[in-house]
Amino acid sequence: MTTRVLILGGGYVGLYTALTLKKKAGNQVDITIVDRRPYMTYQPFLPEAAAGSIEPRHVVVPLRRELKGVRVIQGKVTALTHADRQARVETDFGDTLDLDYDEVVIALGAVPRTLPIPGLAEIGVGFKWVEEAISLRNTILGRIARAASTEDPHMRRRLLTFVFVGGGFAGIEAFAETEDMARAALRHYPELQPADLRFVMVEAMTRILPEMGEEMGGYTLEVLRKRGMEIYLATRLESCEGGRIKLSDGQEFDADTVVWTAGVKPNPVLADTDLPKGPRGHVNALPTLQVATEDGEVVPGAWAAGDNAQVPDLAKGEGAWCAPSAQHAVRQARLLGANLAAHLGGREVKEYRHQHLGTVASLGLNKGVAQIMGVKLRGWPAWFMHRTYHMAQIPSFNRKARVVMDWTTALFFRRDLVSMGRIHEPRRAFKEAADS
Ligand SMILES: Cc1cc2nc3c(=O)[nH]c(=O)nc-3n(C[C@H](O)[C@H](O)[C@H](O)COP(=O)(O)OP(=O)(O)OC[C@H]3O[C@@H](n4cnc5c(N)ncnc54)[C@H](O)[C@@H]3O)c2cc1C
Repeated sequence: MTTRVLILGGGYVGLYTALTLKKKAGNQVDITIVDRRPYMTYQPFLPEAAAGSIEPRHVVVPLRRELKGVRVIQGKVTALTHADRQARVETDFGDTLDLDYDEVVIALGAVPRTLPIPGLAEIGVGFKWVEEAISLRNTILGRIARAASTEDPHMRRRLLTFVFVGGGFAGIEAFAETEDMARAALRHYPELQPADLRFVMVEAMTRILPEMGEEMGGYTLEVLRKRGMEIYLATRLESCEGGRIKLSDGQEFDADTVVWTAGVKPNPVLADTDLPKGPRGHVNALPTLQVATEDGEVVPGAWAAGDNAQVPDLAKGEGAWCAPSAQHAVRQARLLGANLAAHLGGREVKEYRHQHLGTVASLGLNKGVAQIMGVKLRGWPAWFMHRTYHMAQIPSFNRKARVVMDWTTALFFRRDLVSMGRIHEPRRAFKEAADS
């Protein structure tokens, strides 16, 4: 008899767990994967997708293509009753599916950790999904084009002011890559001056890039400030109502674009499950990636990994938890798949232990910063390392080849700087024609 395995979430953890499980226990399991999107998003390439160095379609990996033999359901997980071995899923068409399973893998990742800041929900945008990267690129290029066609200096300033909140590595990469793209685009606008462009980063801590340590964070701060980018440390965004930006240091200015990159929290849907959770809302997991009670008792039939799981970091020692990162998510997923196969085969499960290798960040074309196993790199070598590492990491030969082709094309023809802002209103031209 086959075991029904239900994987909730088709990101890093979902995709790699399914691949490993299929390889190690293919004929013993019947796998179903549920995700709101029909693809896995390779998030480390989102800044380059926003900056036009990679075609956005190439940073996502279609689940059906990679997971042959796995049932893929596109829908939103809304609840889970593990006591009944049942998950509730809502499809895009409003249907409700109750899915039964024998073993469940919780791989629902994280969502932006927002704050109740006036105006944020109205004008803010996140930077976690490919649609946000595409929209940010179109917004920036579209606003540059509009700013070139206005004589009103106040309007021009407002259109060309882009505010980012949160200077961790995802935020800094998005900030630096899109500024680099905006500067490149400005060369085609003789009506605009480089000083018209304003990129502002607001960070509540006293440093940026905490993942890279003080020295490399300090280096990045210096490099970005030299590029004319404004970075305010120990400062909070207090309000952005109607595009009026108010910072805790007393500054006030207007901006239409606010990008929120201030960290993540575990997926809130976990609150609608009967699985044991840690103090910050993650599913509580053992180093074997089995879900466990607070006392460490295994909850049979439930597994969890990645950003939505609280997994002890054995490499760091007592009391430490694995940070939310792709590095952990991929390795945990592979072990989870192997452990689940071992468990079904009556073999022993192993514990997760991984020494974090370091971080690489791209700061625009030919610019980067990296700290890998104690080795610190700056500028072009770090940028090159960033590209080679992530090219090797993105799943599937198909995606690797397409990304390399994008880079090669950009090498000869420069990156594409066309704004496709109208893509967000596809019916406008037709409606205008029909109305006339
Ligand atoms: C811009 C950016 C850059 C990054 N760069 C790096 C980097 O360079 N190195 C690094 O180590 N880490 C990086 N990270 C972090 C890394 O991407 C995450 O740690 C990793 O994605 C976690 O994997 P996961 O499988 O837990 O979650 P995810 O990959 O987020 O997958 C969760 C999946 O669940 C789905 N889902 C969510 N809710 C529901 C629901 N209710 N119903 C159905 N499906 C749902 C989502 O659609 C998604 O596919 C970056 C993150 C961002 C945002």
